[in-house]
Amino acid sequence: MPHKGTEDSKVIHIGFDDTDSIAGRCTTNLAFKIVSKLKNETGITFIDYPLLVRLNPNIPWKTRGNGAVCLRIKTNHSAQIIEFLLKILRSESDLLNGANPGLAIFEGELIPFPLRQFSRRAMNDVVKIEEAEKLAAQLSVQIFKYGQGLGVIGAMASIGSLLEGDHTYEAIAYRKDEFLGSPRKLDKSKVSKVDINTYPLTFNCFDKIHDRVLIAPHGPDPVFCGIRGEDPQTVISSLHKVMPMEKLEGYMVFRTNQGTNMHLQNELSQSEISTHRAGYIRCVVTKRPVIIRGGHVMFEVSDCSNKKYPVAVYEPTGLGNIASKLLEGDNIDIGVGVSMNTPHSTNILNVEYLSILKIAKEIVNINPLCDKCGKRMKSEGKNKGFQCKICGDKRDSKISVTNPRDIQLGMFFPYSKAHRHLTKPLHRFGMEKNYPHVPNIIKALHSEWFKRF
Ligand code: ATP
Repeated sequence: MPHKGTEDSKVIHIGFDDTDSIAGRCTTNLAFKIVSKLKNETGITFIDYPLLVRLNPNIPWKTRGNGAVCLRIKTNHSAQIIEFLLKILRSESDLLNGANPGLAIFEGELIPFPLRQFSRRAMNDVVKIEEAEKLAAQLSVQIFKYGQGLGVIGAMASIGSLLEGDHTYEAIAYRKDEFLGSPRKLDKSKVSKVDINTYPLTFNCFDKIHDRVLIAPHGPDPVFCGIRGEDPQTVISSLHKVMPMEKLEGYMVFRTNQGTNMHLQNELSQSEISTHRAGYIRCVVTKRPVIIRGGHVMFEVSDCSNKKYPVAVYEPTGLGNIASKLLEGDNIDIGVGVSMNTPHSTNILNVEYLSILKIAKEIVNINPLCDKCGKRMKSEGKNKGFQCKICGDKRDSKISVTNPRDIQLGMFFPYSKAHRHLTKPLHRFGMEKNYPHVPNIIKALHSEWFKRF
């Protein structure tokens, strides 16, 4: 990339999304290729790790994990960089298999507030491409679209997401072209060992309950595996410990919102419950759970507006056991994704976590006990009262007793194998951290954050 180096150094934020398809490729891998090129250029400083921003996981047109990427750099040859980005986005996106790439470029130290708000909405709501385009025009964000260009939504949202609050890291290793599509051979015992030895600084490496490796995808995409954790050093050293025999292309560390529950931070009031939204709801159980075919559990809740919603707890989450013990009157808080209940054309709340806040008393009416002989009395027929069959003592009506409930207050989380990228693992509660954005102060990145083998 020839450059004249005559411009003053300025900060540019590069967002891109929707470059892959289910047939192959991956937006993070394109980021790896772009960084590989930019890192070799003089006059470019990365002012943050590449960001892998997971957006609303309930968007049906996502390919896999609804991830968008943002690169933030300081450079004195932005025009040549944009030229290079346009070229590589065109050549490396899976346009033939339905990718709809979008690129957004914003120049400036400070991210404008409306762009940050847009990003927040893209985390838990559905936003329209027209909104992204209008905002880009207002804020002088340069946008470029290919195919239907839907990727500009994610591209804009990734730039607007500073991840100043809670965040995690992922070191993602990439395969060489000649191995794409072949099975990934990972040593299960090494992964399990890393999982045990790095706890609580890594997460979702290994599912002990189901004896399953969680760090590798199964499809034809170029990701070999990814280690998630709290800091760059831990994810890099852990990745080295699980390195396979297969020769890899390299790895890159992303700063991400994975494992933070970022999509569930907003309380959904009744008016905000619409299809594909995410959030949490404080509610009361209004119809007791039933277990349906497949082990899924269904019940009904009502929020403070008294509007009622069906709720589904899917079997793979492992939350069915606790959910099935709920009763009418229990106060709960549920993290949910809203989906369309197609046969009924209504919304249904799919539970991502369950918090039991107040347990209602279970009062049941039973036949009275005989005071004299202590035996349970028998009914004499409808409205005829009760009689002790031993001593003949009589009573008019049933008595009310409180049944002990087999349920405890607390927060309940899905199995790790059922985690979404954004799902916050139990042990991360209390481990939240900040990454304040201070203009003009460039934090040093870990020296090994990018490697090409
Ligand atoms: P991968 O995780 O493998 O990179 P993906 O799951 O991110 O793929 P994409 O191919 O990027 O899937 O498709 C997601 C599409 O949804 C993108 O075009 C993105 O711009 C768009 N999108 C993301 N968030 C929202 C949102 N909140 N509202 C509307 N569209 C969105």
